[in-house]
Amino acid sequence: MAQTNPITGEPADEVGRPIDIVQLYPRELNIYGDWGNTLTLVRRLEWLGYVPRVHDLEVGGPLPRRADIVIGGGGQDSGQAQVYRDLLQRERWLRGLVDLGIPMLLVCGSYQLFGRSFDTIGGQQLTGIGILDVTTKGESDRLVGNVIVDTEQFGPIVGFENHSGQTFLGEQVEPLGLVRPGHGAGNNGTDRTEGARRANVIGTYLHGSLLPKNPAVADYLIGAALANRYGILTTPSLDDPYVEQARSVAMSRPR
Ligand code: GLN
Repeated sequence: MAQTNPITGEPADEVGRPIDIVQLYPRELNIYGDWGNTLTLVRRLEWLGYVPRVHDLEVGGPLPRRADIVIGGGGQDSGQAQVYRDLLQRERWLRGLVDLGIPMLLVCGSYQLFGRSFDTIGGQQLTGIGILDVTTKGESDRLVGNVIVDTEQFGPIVGFENHSGQTFLGEQVEPLGLVRPGHGAGNNGTDRTEGARRANVIGTYLHGSLLPKNPAVADYLIGAALANRYGILTTPSLDDPYVEQARSVAMSRPR
């Protein structure tokens, strides 16, 4: 079957090498522009000469045949309640992908559901798939505002958070980074940690969208996908003159 470019709808170059991106529950988990993360991956892969193919995973829908990158966005508690049972059905498949080193980016609502559990402020208990050793509890104080996170691997990361869930890390994950003092709340507003990592899986509260302003993270996900699928071990590098401007504007914003 002919492939089409996921953004323009035009026929894609079939001689190009495909990269399959799985987007988790785009209807229910896509707030604050989180789909921009997928768009960023698509664009950067195209600039590198690959043929990105985006597969939406919907509640009750079929599993895609291949996944080179898995992406999930944020959602309201109500959106998460609509998808969490379906996500539990996919746990085995997703764990298999994690074991293969497939890169994943889970933002906010999907980060919480990749944890062990999320007790919402409304009193619902949403069981997570436990791929990330974290637990989350909704609290009445929402953690809202612009964030700067200092990370070892990616340098400073910028984004925007808005969550009632407060997340605490277990021993089997590392934080993505530490919130710069005075520049955000992160996982829970108390221990300075932001996000969680295990294997090539990154969970984070940062919207923004995250990847356009933090291409080091985008290229890490792409690099892992290219290594897994094509054995290409050099991290791609791309000139993007707008990125530094976007980053410095984002980093100068008040909390
Ligand atoms: N509903 C979750 C919370 O408020 C996630 C919010 C989000 O994805 N921005 O904690």
